[in-house]
This record gives sequence, C-alpha cells and structure tokens, in this order.
Amino acid sequence: MTAEILDGKRIAAEIRAEVAEEVEKTRFALKRPFHPCLVAVLVGEDPASQVYVRNKQRACEKAGIEGRTHRLPVDATQQQLMDLVQQLNEDPSVHGILVQLPLPKTGGGDSGFDERAVLDAIDPLKDVDAFSPVNVGLLMQGRARFLPCTPHGIVQLLHRSQISVAGKHVVVVGRSDIVGKPMAMMLAQRNSSCGRDVANATVTIAHSRTEDLGAMCRSADCLIAAVGVPEMIQGDMIKPGAVVIDVGINRVDGRLVGDVAFEQAKQVASAITPVPGGVGPLTIAMLLHNTVLAAKLQLPSTLP
Ligand code: NDP
Repeated sequence: MTAEILDGKRIAAEIRAEVAEEVEKTRFALKRPFHPCLVAVLVGEDPASQVYVRNKQRACEKAGIEGRTHRLPVDATQQQLMDLVQQLNEDPSVHGILVQLPLPKTGGGDSGFDERAVLDAIDPLKDVDAFSPVNVGLLMQGRARFLPCTPHGIVQLLHRSQISVAGKHVVVVGRSDIVGKPMAMMLAQRNSSCGRDVANATVTIAHSRTEDLGAMCRSADCLIAAVGVPEMIQGDMIKPGAVVIDVGINRVDGRLVGDVAFEQAKQVASAITPVPGGVGPLTIAMLLHNTVLAAKLQLPSTLP
C-alpha cells in the first residue's frame, strides 16, 4: 500500500482564496471601507521568526489583509512589550495581534520575558492565535470564537480530504497548549467548524511519559504527531491503513523533516501529510481566516 499524500499546500491555497473572497464580499455588503489588519510583534532577530513573520505578512497582502510588523530590540523589557500590546489593543485600525514566539531568552529584564503575561494581555477579540484564557475556555466549552490555527488547519485538511474521524480512535502525540491539547479537544467535541465528521472521535493524548508509545500509536485510526522530534514515529508504530498527520517541523542538516519517518510511514498509512507542504501552509491560512473574523467581530455595527 502507498498512502495518499494529503496536499496541504493546495488546500491552504483554496482557503486563502476563500478568505480573500470573504474580504471582498464583506466590503461590498458593508458599502464602506473594510480593511482587516494583522499586526505581528517580533522581538529580536531570530532568523526563523523573521522568516515566519515575513511569510505571514506576504500571505496577508495576497488575501487583501493589511499585514504590519512591530519590531522590538532583543534587549527590550517586559514593560516595553506589554505597553506595545496595550497600544495595539487600543488601536481600532488593528484587528489581530500576533506575538511571534518564542520570545528571546536574552530580553525581558533579569528574569526574562513572561510569555504567559504577554499573551494574556492581548485583547481576546484581537487574539487571532486563540491563546488567551478566554478563547481557550470558549474552545473547551464547544463555543469557540477563534480556533487555534494549526489544529483548525488540520480539521480543515481532514474535512477537505473527505476523511472522517467520527467514532474512530485518534491518538495525538504531544500536549502543548498550541497544538496537542487544542487538537485533542477539537476532535473530541460533538461538532467542528467542518461538521460532525471531523469531531466525535475517541481521543487519546500521548506525551513523553506515556508507557509503550509504540502500542498506543498502533491503536490509532488517525495518528497526529506534534512532538518536535525528527522522524520519531517509525513505520512499525503505525496501524496499517491509518491516517497520519505530521505537525512536526524540524531542521536537520539544512532540510525540513517532520516527526514521522515519512518514507516508512507512507508504506503503511492510507493517507499522510508531507513535511514541508502538509500542515504548515494551513496554519497561515487559518491565521488569515481568524484575522478577517476578528475584523468582522470588531465592526461597530452587525453585518447585514
Ligand atoms: P512542544 O515542545 O511544546 O510540545 C511537544 C510535545 O511532545 C510535549 O507534550 C512533549 O511531552 C511531547 N514529546 C516530546 N518528546 C516526546 C517523546 N519522546 N515521546 C512522546 N512525546 C514526546 O511542541 P509544539 O507542540 O509547539 O510543536 C510540536 C512540533 O510541531 C514541533 O516540531 C513544531 O515545530 C511543530 N509545529 C508546527 C506547526 C505547523 O504549522 N506545522 C505549528 C506549531 C508547531 P511532555 O509534555 O511530556 O514534555
């Protein structure tokens, strides 16, 4: 068996086009200016973060969204960063605020940056990453306002690839606040942004303390790897015919590899996401989606 390769790049392009269309439609319906604006806050000079921010800005422009970047020096203080977030919260021309993580280890004063405090300070209506406690709480209760971009991208990818997880066993390897935890929560809900087929799963969260990870993974009809360890999921950890979603982005000898040993896995799985070109492009597409949603939520009057 050779797995179907799930083309995240193509699906992301489809979603980006829909977002651009939504901006146009809203502008037309409002009969007045509608300029969604996403601001990325970049602290320091980390090359990978700079590339991510640049890519997000480019994607914004293509979708009719204004993308701005605010830069702070590597030795900025916690207060400077908090003040900037506050200023952006109060600026009505800004609809989405994204603080690029990780924050540099060097800044933030003697004890370093308090990342949690910075994320908590973002106005929940502008929290397009959906990291604030309010948005996480709404997600937990099944009435999310913004969905976190990477797991939402995966829901879209499954839906648009006609893959149902309802009633199936999904194993999510990784329990981060950004990917693993919200992913598990979203697939265990009764409904999703894409309907009931990409929800209603029986979900297990695995992590570094899970005993016999191999057996756990082999019991998965759908295996989602969000670990950050290159090619940790080997072919013999995959149930024949399973769907494998590889969230990992790891740089090894100058090339990008996922958390799944792709060549082995594609001989066993029924469908698999490649790295690059799988989950990554969807994350940006869903960020654009959230920015337009944020701009609509912040309109002074309701949409017709
Ligand atoms: P974190 O480092 O925050 O979390 C990693 C998780 O994996 C932790 O829960 C950890 O367990 C678990 N883990 C680590 N080692 C093992 C192991 N040997 N066995 C089982 N579990 C293990 O990472 P993120 O969730 O932020 O990111 C995960 C990966 O996804 C990274 O490669 C990252 O670059 C990528 N990523 C990709 C995105 C995209 O758009 N495609 C977006 C975001 C992330 P424990 O909690 O016990 O420590």
